[in-house]
Amino acid sequence: MKFYYSEKLSSFTNLLHAFTTKDSGNLAFHVGDDETDVQKNHELLAKELGYEKNSLVHMQQIHSDIVHVVTNEDFKTPPTCDALVTNKTDKALMVMVADCSPILFYDDKKKVIAAAHAGRAGAFKNIVNNVVEKMQTEFGSNPKDIHVSIGASIGVCCYEVGSEIYDEAKILGFEYAMQKRDGSFYLDVGTILKKQLLSCGIKRENIEFCNDCTCCNTQKYFSYRAEAKTGRFAGVIQLTL
Ligand SMILES: [Zn+2]
Repeated sequence: MKFYYSEKLSSFTNLLHAFTTKDSGNLAFHVGDDETDVQKNHELLAKELGYEKNSLVHMQQIHSDIVHVVTNEDFKTPPTCDALVTNKTDKALMVMVADCSPILFYDDKKKVIAAAHAGRAGAFKNIVNNVVEKMQTEFGSNPKDIHVSIGASIGVCCYEVGSEIYDEAKILGFEYAMQKRDGSFYLDVGTILKKQLLSCGIKRENIEFCNDCTCCNTQKYFSYRAEAKTGRFAGVIQLTL
């Protein structure tokens, strides 16, 4: 199985993580695939990466800014939220995407992890700020100790948006992330996320981006914009002992 690994997160020994590709198949249960097939994909992925399939927590993602601290109940029913935080070991957190940004967080001092989903909506709502705040209030994290890795997402090369989004971005102060080409507007979500992370106090050198555009690389990633009916790939992170 082919994965994309964060160089930064790979340097920590008590951590398991990966961003999947199409190689791992579709991991989402809500896109029309047979549930048995999706379960099988989860099984193979867990085995390959080395976590317990039943320890996995994923989310009912709704493009919100809701951050959920993992409880023991979450293994049965995925919580409705767009970010998960925990300091529990041997509990894998998963975010699923097809163009949105999968974001993995790790505080090396307090040993806290998070996984977040941020598309345009999540970026406009500043979900990354809520994640960092939750890590601080619940687990005493210092933003200076938090490492962040952002997986493949749709790039400004492909993410064309309508004029109403352009207007909204302008009102919210995200004009710097808009590009105008041939009379069309394009949004650079990654630039917004980076600025927001820096504003949270995350160090520049602790932020890592995968520069692959999902929409340009459909042989490797699922892309909603390019394929419409498509699967989901994932970011996974787990604290190990
Ligand atoms: Zn592209």
